[in-house]
Amino acid sequence: MEQFLTVANVRFIEKQMWKVLKAKASSQDAAVLDAVKGIAVSEIEQQLTMPQMELLKAFEQIEDRVGAELFIESLKRYTIPFQPISPKQLQSLFKKEKKLHIPNLASQDWTAISYLSWYDSRTHRQYIVTEREGNYTALRGVAEPQYRTKGICAICHEQTDVHLFTAKVKGKEDQFTAYSNYICDNVQTCNQRLSDYEKLETFVQRNLI
Ligand SMILES: [Zn+2]
Repeated sequence: MEQFLTVANVRFIEKQMWKVLKAKASSQDAAVLDAVKGIAVSEIEQQLTMPQMELLKAFEQIEDRVGAELFIESLKRYTIPFQPISPKQLQSLFKKEKKLHIPNLASQDWTAISYLSWYDSRTHRQYIVTEREGNYTALRGVAEPQYRTKGICAICHEQTDVHLFTAKVKGKEDQFTAYSNYICDNVQTCNQRLSDYEKLETFVQRNLI
């Protein structure tokens, strides 16, 4: 089976699924439920680049929590994972870093992330890596997760515990400007919430050195 869903696509489908199940739990009105389901299906159709009848049919047949969990599990085989990156590749992405702190990659679930990120508490630097068709994009900023606050994350656009991520961005005439954004404190939950890959790409483009 061809893999055609990004991790963000999977998150989006899950969100739609929970909307339908929530409606089911709060209403007995068949017409209302059909309408909610109809909207959810068309939202999914718009997100996918090609029509996936099999997937949509399975989506429409979800009746309860157990069905929902089985459905989520079945999406894994369609998911394009983040192409695993090695410590060596990370080192070459961040060439200028003499003592790059490499995260533990052995335990990473590559089908669960749209981006890889880690924080080095010695240098207060946060690293972000994205991948598309085997090409990696690297981002580095200064972060202070100890000063967390409530706010909207610039990556997943959800309200949550966030901290400032500050990148130096090259502007006109080679002048550097510090550019700050609030992003999720917890990289794992940010990846769980991120249902629109374009939001991540926009964030990365804005912060590229
Ligand atoms: Zn986030």
